[in-house]
Amino acid sequence: MVEAPHDSGFGPGDLVVGVVRRPDPEPCGACAHGEFDMCRNGRYRERGIKGLDGYGAELWCLETGYAVRIDADLGLAGVLMEPTSVVAKA
Ligand SMILES: [Zn+2]
Repeated sequence: MVEAPHDSGFGPGDLVVGVVRRPDPEPCGACAHGEFDMCRNGRYRERGIKGLDGYGAELWCLETGYAVRIDADLGLAGVLMEPTSVVAKA
């Protein structure tokens, strides 16, 4: 992370990955309760996949609530966190 809001709990040098999915604009019951990974109406959005720019850039911005801290010991292997979470869910 290059920079972060002072009250975010993150700071320069932290390793983070971004959550891909976002709730649908008119949330279904699952999205309304923060469980947008279980969206019932299919109108969710996903960065780089469905309706939103992805993370395939040298620098990108991320809402704090969609940032997940990665243990520094993982280093670059931390990029595997999101696909690993998909496998774990399955
Ligand atoms: Zn939904």
